Amino acid sequence: MPSKMALVDYNKCHPDECEGGLCLAVAACERKLLKQEAAYEPPVPDPYLCKGCGDCVRACPLCAIITSRIWVSVLGLTNYACL
Ligand code: SF4
Ligand code: SF4
Repeated sequence: MPSKMALVDYNKCHPDECEGGLCLAVAACERKLLKQEAAYEPPVPDPYLCKGCGDCVRACPLCAIITSRIWVSVLGLTNYACL
């Protein structure tokens, strides 16, 4: 089933460049679907609940997040195909 979701480019994400190591994109997600385990850790999106609204994309000063369409297998295996 195609849907849109946030994807983090971990080559571009540098939490040490965000004040206090706190992810601005995490703070921007009102649904709390982007998680940061601890300060200075990169964020991880929730592929099942993220709606691809783009709030986190706009909040990241390093452009480390994009929204893209994905296909999630209904057979229990998860395959990501960025378009
Ligand atoms: S995703 Fe952006 S805002 Fe969040 S920690 Fe990485 S660089 Fe900072
Ligand atoms: S795209 Fe929207 S719902 Fe998904 S993680 Fe970003 S702010 Fe949250």
